[in-house]
Amino acid sequence: MKRQLSAILYADVAGYSRLTGQNEEQTHQQLNTGLNLLSEIITAHDGSKVHEAGDAILAEFSSATEAVDTAVEFQKQMASRDSDPGAGELIEFRIGVNIGEVIRDRGDIYGDGVNIAARIQEVAPPGGLCVSSVVLEQLSSKDYNYDDLGYRNFKNIERPVHVYEIRLPDLSEHHPMKAIETRVQGQPLFDDAIDKPPITAGHCSCGSVTLEVTQESLGTGFCHCKICRRCTGAPVFAWAAFPIEAVKFTRDKPKYYRLSLIAEKGFCKKCGSLVVWRGLKPEPANYFAVPTAILDNPEDYAPTWHGGIESQIPWLQIHDDLPRTRCTESPFLKKSWGSVGASDPDEWISLEYEKAKQLDDDSASS
Ligand SMILES: [Zn+2]
Ligand SMILES: [Zn+2]
Repeated sequence: MKRQLSAILYADVAGYSRLTGQNEEQTHQQLNTGLNLLSEIITAHDGSKVHEAGDAILAEFSSATEAVDTAVEFQKQMASRDSDPGAGELIEFRIGVNIGEVIRDRGDIYGDGVNIAARIQEVAPPGGLCVSSVVLEQLSSKDYNYDDLGYRNFKNIERPVHVYEIRLPDLSEHHPMKAIETRVQGQPLFDDAIDKPPITAGHCSCGSVTLEVTQESLGTGFCHCKICRRCTGAPVFAWAAFPIEAVKFTRDKPKYYRLSLIAEKGFCKKCGSLVVWRGLKPEPANYFAVPTAILDNPEDYAPTWHGGIESQIPWLQIHDDLPRTRCTESPFLKKSWGSVGASDPDEWISLEYEKAKQLDDDSASS
């Protein structure tokens, strides 16, 4: 029998029998509305509905992007429904998308790829969407935020499947970086920082650059971006942000190197250890990102989110539930790069190297 590669979408109502038990008629009406809406969106994205079975829909697409766009558009529309006070609990679909080989027979499709899509769907939260890693790799749209849910073993599926959850709402308003930016907006906050006793301290390899910190951290995180990788020489940069006024260098001061148009790093001029990172655009940031690993008590500054996840090295698997974001979603990076004329994220990386080199040449010749 002939096999063909397809993007498979499987949608199913969460807790359908429970909802039916509560209010059969309303639930059925809502189901019809939902199934009709999903069918329309599938067609609009050049997909084809293979079958409906009770409260589930199976559809196939020739493109992963179209399948995911369909699911996202449907879930967005479902989320924006007005809840009619008399209508009871609103039904919500879970959706799974996978890519796999299918066998076509009697107007239906079969194969592991289909079963995996149905299993991935079960992992998705009500109103949500999960995809396999194969789908994520194919997505041409860079606009989606996602969480790595790790490898899952499914019944009757031989190998574990790497599952990701696509986050539906626009994250930029809730980006973890927002909290730091908000905390550092009011300068007077730091006036009393100077004379306080240190709450933590750290130093470079040789001990020449020793820092003391007198205020609590503004936020912590991981950055997987390529710039941070090269800056640290480590597969991921773990940092803790502190107000600049709260960081005191008690012995030597660090030397600064312009990493790019938008940021610089401070390092020990004797041993070379990275000791601080600072954003420079649109104006110099009033906080330092200190490498967590140079602190005396790094265990107290656990990272709270992952940034630059698009550059994560595949063999570096960190199994946590922290939010995962791409550089292109960062309001800080958008603002910084926008201020130097590079509002398109695609320009950032190339500008970073070319212009940083140019800046180096400039300073060497002057
Ligand atoms: Zn040193
Ligand atoms: Zn980075």
